[in-house]
Amino acid sequence: MTKNIAVIRGDGIGPEIVEQAVKVLDRIGELYGHTFDYAETDMGGCAIDKWGDPLPEEMLHRCLNSDSVLLGAVGGERWNHVPGSMRPEKGLLKLRAAMGVYSNNRPAKIWPQLADASPLKKSIVDQGIDFIIVRELIGGIYFGEHRTEVTDGVETAVDILTYSENEIERIGRIGFETALKRNKKLCSVEKSNVLDSSRLWKKVMTRLSEEYPEVELSHMFVDNCAMQIVKDPSQFDVIVTENMFGDILSDEASMITGSIGMIPSSSLGAETCGLYEPIHGSAPDIAGKDMANPVGTILAAAMMLRFSFDMAKEADAIEQAVSDYLDAGYRTADIMSEGMKLVGCKECGTLITSYLTK
Ligand code: NAD
Repeated sequence: MTKNIAVIRGDGIGPEIVEQAVKVLDRIGELYGHTFDYAETDMGGCAIDKWGDPLPEEMLHRCLNSDSVLLGAVGGERWNHVPGSMRPEKGLLKLRAAMGVYSNNRPAKIWPQLADASPLKKSIVDQGIDFIIVRELIGGIYFGEHRTEVTDGVETAVDILTYSENEIERIGRIGFETALKRNKKLCSVEKSNVLDSSRLWKKVMTRLSEEYPEVELSHMFVDNCAMQIVKDPSQFDVIVTENMFGDILSDEASMITGSIGMIPSSSLGAETCGLYEPIHGSAPDIAGKDMANPVGTILAAAMMLRFSFDMAKEADAIEQAVSDYLDAGYRTADIMSEGMKLVGCKECGTLITSYLTK
């Protein structure tokens, strides 16, 4: 099979981690007889430097014409001075919206080899951590109106949070469908004690639950959910929530599994073309030091094979290679512990590639 992948290396550690995922994909291609063609695509700070735009139209079309998009990360302090509408993150928001990828799927699963890397007590980790956050990705406050105004010398900033019934229903369905394929427990997270948008969210989720009688639906306020994720993560199977709540909760969830560097994500809409990326940012503090953990990006490539290219065996092979690499005691700095072998970003990619088998 031949697939065209738009590759966005981006900023900070982005180029280093994407390089490792490409290495893994190339080896998968050799082993399983596929050809992956890469369309190099500029987005984020590097695109601002080169083109004066975080996502020029030509680059956007490169993504829309591909079979899927693999992204490292964008952003960094260097571009903090540019106007809000031209920030590196705007490129990413524009890409998500243009691709129509409204459903962001972020697994929070602890690898048994990394139980010690979790900041939670062993007694809590031993209960098991294995849940998925389904986050709405192209609505809510990140996509509402943003403006700053000055009245009588006082600056006021406004960000508008809007959700329609239709937007809630389509992501709600993904939540129920995901739960159906797992342990059939869905927790809908909102702030309906304060926000109108959350009251609508809860109403739509409750209505939808009549169509999914096999799924046990619960409702939780976002502040309580933040607490429950560290107190008793084993209670969760699938969490469905809006854009900003999902952004924050999924970072928290990633940390309890050991490191933000280990977690991939997929973003899908109505098309099979998806956007695949690790959940972390461009980590400017470790960029260029060969210290980044590329596993989240490598696992994002595995998700791309599974969900967009229907290559389940190939995806399994990548996940197995990551497991073998951890079993052999290799660790990047973020998950390093006593008695383990410290490796850099490049060596991590090379080792995982070497563990790939057919
Ligand atoms: P971050 O995720 O980049 O970094 C948070 C911490 O985690 C840092 O200490 C970093 O070193 C560490 N870390 C992140 N990824 C790692 C990896 N693969 N291996 C080892 N350690 C890792 O978040 P931040 O510092 O808040 O943001 C930095 C920049 O990234 C900002 O400009 C932000 O806007 C941008 N950002 C981009 C995306 C994206 O491209 N999807 C997402 C989040 C943040």
